[in-house]
Amino acid sequence: MFELPSLNYDYEALSRSISGDVMRFHHDKHHQTYVDKLNAVIEANPEIKGKTVEYLITNVGSFLPSIQTAIRNHGGGHYNHSFFWLCMSPNGGGEPKGEVAQLIQAKYGDFQSFVDEFTARALGVFGSGWVWLQPNGDIITTANQDTPIAQGLDSPLLCLDVWEHAYYLDYKNRRDDYIKSWWNVVDWDSVAKRYSER
Ligand code: MN
Repeated sequence: MFELPSLNYDYEALSRSISGDVMRFHHDKHHQTYVDKLNAVIEANPEIKGKTVEYLITNVGSFLPSIQTAIRNHGGGHYNHSFFWLCMSPNGGGEPKGEVAQLIQAKYGDFQSFVDEFTARALGVFGSGWVWLQPNGDIITTANQDTPIAQGLDSPLLCLDVWEHAYYLDYKNRRDDYIKSWWNVVDWDSVAKRYSER
């Protein structure tokens, strides 16, 4: 059975960008609900027990049609949020160094141009979804709880949750202010680690 992963930092630790209230609701309520609902599907369908979440979401088409949507939404929700928490740190912000800096420079020219493009894509997500930086330097978006790996793409380097539940308590409808502030907590060291281990 899947479990809600603990955060590597306190709920209040990102409060210069995301309040403790939002972190508590987002992690303890929203993410927990994806985990609980994913576990409920597995409980009712023992043939898919013991698989990783990555396996479940990338092989969703091979399961009973009646459970595919639930696996996609709740498996994706668990995968995406587990990943999102790792993309942020109280010591985050600034600019990437080394190989990741080179990747971004090669694709976007400079860091600010990358930030501008990523931000534009994040603002362009209609409704609920995610923005991702891929190891080839591409910026992609997914709707709802869809994931890059379920679309046959490589494991991502970085993601941003642009569901309203990720920012509404702090920023109301101002997704642009949320994104602008989020850059101050992006954990580039974790991005570099994923890039070097790809
Ligand atoms: Mn979320």
